[in-house]
Amino acid sequence: MCRLTAARREKHLPDRPDFDPSTLVIHSNRSYEKQSNSILFPIHQTATYIHESVGVTKGYGYSRGANPTVNALEQAIAAIEGTENALCFRSGMSAITTLCLSMLKAGDHVVLSDVIYGGTSRLFHQVLGNFGIEYTFANTASVEDTEKAIKPNTRLLFLETPANPTLKLSDVRALSDMAHSHKDILVAVDNTFLTPLLQNCLNLGADVSMLSTTKYIDGHNATIGGSLATHNTALVERMRLVRKTIGSIQPPFDAWLALQGVKTLPARLAMHCSNAMAVATWLEQHPMVHKVNYPGLDSFPQKALAEKQQTGFGGMLSFELEANTVDSLHFIDALRLCTCAESLGSVETLVTNPATASHCDLPLEQREQLGIPDRLIRLSVGLESPKDLIKDFEQAFAATFNGNAAGSGE
Ligand SMILES: *Cc1c(COP(=O)(O)O)cnc(C)c1O
Repeated sequence: MCRLTAARREKHLPDRPDFDPSTLVIHSNRSYEKQSNSILFPIHQTATYIHESVGVTKGYGYSRGANPTVNALEQAIAAIEGTENALCFRSGMSAITTLCLSMLKAGDHVVLSDVIYGGTSRLFHQVLGNFGIEYTFANTASVEDTEKAIKPNTRLLFLETPANPTLKLSDVRALSDMAHSHKDILVAVDNTFLTPLLQNCLNLGADVSMLSTTKYIDGHNATIGGSLATHNTALVERMRLVRKTIGSIQPPFDAWLALQGVKTLPARLAMHCSNAMAVATWLEQHPMVHKVNYPGLDSFPQKALAEKQQTGFGGMLSFELEANTVDSLHFIDALRLCTCAESLGSVETLVTNPATASHCDLPLEQREQLGIPDRLIRLSVGLESPKDLIKDFEQAFAATFNGNAAGSGE
């Protein structure tokens, strides 16, 4: 090989300079595949790694512990989280579980946001509770209410903001300051709805940022996965040990697919935000719409907090019709372009009824108290033209209500 080519290669990628996130998601893990120079990082679909001589490896021993393709995704996520340490897991739920198993023991207490992903509340109610972990769901929109829930044995404050599905916000900076004024409490934020590009929780003072990479990071509904990022190196080593022990690492092929998705995250998020704003604005003025929850609307009670801690309003919204539950469900069935499916954050616009999907485990009374009535409709606004999405809503209103201006009441 001529020396000029070799020198060019060396120069190809400067050491992690302060590139913008849109550059980092594409180039953060660009180490050459030496055999062919393939531009994509390869899929290391392997269970184990050869010892050059006994005990001498290139840092990889067995793929339950670590895998180069998973590591490439971890580098991309660490880059956008603004830290050195990120770990990837086979689901968002296995990320949360690994976090809890890494830092909690029987007798410890956790405070969680009261409006939260259904799987997270199920994890505490039906699994961790059986192992002596105590927990309290608190209104984390209020620092005062949250502080009241803290006990001498509280070790973790687990926030979700914006919360699923009401978009209720929690002030990450104020809550982190409050929690850290108590002894030995770590703050973790489920940042799935915004990703660190629209809300950097570690910069806002949280100890751990958690993502379900299934959603915006992958962006194409191809994989299930999760991540945890932190500046706390002792915690990351502990989580690595627990991940290796329980086997919660993401499989290499899934990591590779998510690695392709993350490259377009900044571009996709910009479009998700503008499409969601267009749809939210249109829905809000519609006479058959009772209420729209979207942090970008002037009517959203916590818009000021969104502007303070977020750099965009995101692609998620929820709304209630001026109609009863049955008509609201018929309305979802009448949508043609918007697809009724669980999950969010993908190129396709997805619509769900939280009461029968993500939050079906909660009793009605509790749901209504949290702002999740049976008729609430959640929308993950995708990348279709907002004009076509609005046309779909128009035809669904026409099909459901047949020209009647009002629903028949509950
Ligand atoms: C989907 C989701 C999770 C769980 O992630 P999985 O990848 O489905 O395990 C956790 N939190 C939020 C906010 C989610 O939307």
